[in-house]
Amino acid sequence: MTSTPLAGATIVVRNPANDRVVGSVADSSSETVADAIVALRQHQPHWESIGPAGRSKVLRALQDWILDNAAQLADVVQSETGKVRAEAELEVTAWVDLISYWGRQAGRFLADEHPAPHSPLGRIKKLTTRYRPYQVVGVITPWNYPLGMGAMDIIPALMAGASVLHKPSEVTPLSAVEIARGWAEVGGPPVFMVITGGAGAGAALVEGADFLQFTGSTATGRIVTRQRSERFKPYSLELGGKDPAIVVADADLDRAAHGIAWGALLNAGQTCVSIERVYVEAPVYDAFVAKLTERVEALRVGQDDREFRYDVGALANQQQLEIVSRHVDEAVAAGARVLTGGKPTGVGTFFEPTVLVDVDHSMSCIREETFGPTIPVIKVADEDEAVRLANDSEYGLSASIWTGDRQRGRRLAGRLDAGAVNINDSIANVFSFVLPMGGWKQSGVGSRWGGAAGIRKYCRQQAMTEPVVMAIPREVYWFPYSKAKFGFVFTLVRALSGRGRRRLR
Ligand code: ADP
Repeated sequence: MTSTPLAGATIVVRNPANDRVVGSVADSSSETVADAIVALRQHQPHWESIGPAGRSKVLRALQDWILDNAAQLADVVQSETGKVRAEAELEVTAWVDLISYWGRQAGRFLADEHPAPHSPLGRIKKLTTRYRPYQVVGVITPWNYPLGMGAMDIIPALMAGASVLHKPSEVTPLSAVEIARGWAEVGGPPVFMVITGGAGAGAALVEGADFLQFTGSTATGRIVTRQRSERFKPYSLELGGKDPAIVVADADLDRAAHGIAWGALLNAGQTCVSIERVYVEAPVYDAFVAKLTERVEALRVGQDDREFRYDVGALANQQQLEIVSRHVDEAVAAGARVLTGGKPTGVGTFFEPTVLVDVDHSMSCIREETFGPTIPVIKVADEDEAVRLANDSEYGLSASIWTGDRQRGRRLAGRLDAGAVNINDSIANVFSFVLPMGGWKQSGVGSRWGGAAGIRKYCRQQAMTEPVVMAIPREVYWFPYSKAKFGFVFTLVRALSGRGRRRLR
């Protein structure tokens, strides 16, 4: 992607694999964001009025455009992240898959509901729950999945009938700009905009959006929470994680080593649901560590082109490289051993995939989110110790359990403080849109996806009542009050809702 000259403040985007400038975007002011919100608000009612089928048509056209431009989109993702080809293409598939899912299901999930009344007395009313979209949904995303992350929230929000303003990370804004270009090329109405910028633009969106979906650090999430709650405005947050994996003695160690290597090192470990700590029962510890180390040693690290030559790409920026290096160095200084990897490769922001042992809960590599290609492994006496240590974290995003016994896996899952648990798998919940994805503890507020809930979160619920019989001049409990009328009402409530002899006066 060539750089685009722009008037006003600009943000220069670099490929972290080689530090080359790959583009530049506007560092938008808060006024630009506020103006965009006004414009989106004007166009939203028409978008809502065309219904799920009308909206799906537009999103399907965008899906066609994405499929026609898939290779070039993956190029842009790679250019601003330095990630490997496979992982860049994975981001493109998120848009294709999610447009299909929400496009097919939105009509059903958003249809009016007519719940049965809570008591026979309620039968005199026809009841309706209606899902009405927020007018302007703000979506703020981080740099780790610059294309795919937006898909997770923009598509259900648009399908709900909201207008959407997306502010991508200032580190990786180019992929989101491409999606906005696609939207314009397929003639999408002015209900979706991408505004580039940093914290200032983000704060303006937090200020003005009717609903805000934020994904990013726990520290920024705290600022966002304060700003939103000050104004009683709803929001949903997906924040940091420090996901544990538990390997018990009856596990298939080959599958566990493969799955944990992938779950920990996907996207060079820069995934909120990355495995960041592994607890292994003592009898299989040595065998598991040997298999894991062998797997990690075999990974190919480097700057990829379109040929799928590498498995692990660059870290997103220099700051991330420093955090990962610090976690490893501090662990080693406190007595940990590096079995493979352990340092930057010396090229760009690449860091060697690393297995660390002899680590404990006093170390930053276990307590803080690393977001890098490191796998610290801890030996535990039994599953009770594994569960206790896994839960010893301020985060609770997801977890995995590796066992040959399904019942044991389910039982252990029920003891973990995490929003998702994958049994004999890693990150699988993120590909299961019918399940809710949300963090417990300091990993978030609310959730995304989860079937109907994933689109209804972008709606306000509107309750509607109508008398079943329109011709009744007045309800029995309206004015004027009288003892006889209320005696009658209370007798009915007592008979229908009380129990035993108290049902009768
Ligand atoms: P990270 O850079 O580690 O992903 P951040 O939380 O700093 O995490 O950034 C995530 C997103 O939040 C980015 O798009 C960033 O521009 C945005 N952001 C940063 N500060 C603020 C803020 N005060 N208000 C709203 N958004 C912000």
